Amino acid sequence: MAEVATFRTDDVDALVEASLSCPLCLHATTVVALEGDSEDGHARCCCTVCGHERTVELLPEQLLRLSLMVATAQ
Ligand SMILES: [Zn+2]
Repeated sequence: MAEVATFRTDDVDALVEASLSCPLCLHATTVVALEGDSEDGHARCCCTVCGHERTVELLPEQLLRLSLMVATAQ
């Protein structure tokens, strides 16, 4: 069963990042890619410490929230 993102769209960036942190070592993850569309969106995340990669399912509004965050970081 796929992991589902738990952050709210009005959370600050730090909370969004915390909700995506690595399930193995609890370090921050980097969002490698946002995939899919508003019907079926997900984020590929890669841990900055242990390299654990996983895919997190996103609601349409979460996908939008994350895409704004990723765009700001670049
Ligand atoms: Zn990790």
